[in-house]
Amino acid sequence: METKERLCKLCKTNFTGKQSKIFCSDSCKSKYHFRLNTVTQEATINIDTILHRNRSILLELLGKNGVQKKIERSHLDKKKFHWHFITGYHLNSQNKMVHYVYDFSWMIFSDQEVLLKRLNKKL
Ligand SMILES: [Zn+2]
Repeated sequence: METKERLCKLCKTNFTGKQSKIFCSDSCKSKYHFRLNTVTQEATINIDTILHRNRSILLELLGKNGVQKKIERSHLDKKKFHWHFITGYHLNSQNKMVHYVYDFSWMIFSDQEVLLKRLNKKL
């Protein structure tokens, strides 16, 4: 097994070890990942909050056991639904854009209406 001297990615001290090792110790490794995770959480919390709120709005409008419902677009506007925050999208067989917010989806149905669906429940 090849060993080599190198700098720890976190504390920058020299250490020798397996070529694949990038930290001098488990402590540096876990500190590095903790910091990385913290930075990611700080950077994503605002958008996550908006996405979670969008999901709550869809859940509220569709109801606990609802699977599919047409709803006035203005209802979503009134609840301050953030139209541009989605977790995914796809074009359906009619070439209409289906927008996902976690396990819910919405699609512009007409000028006034939006079709809401819940993904995991069977029709
Ligand atoms: Zn280190």
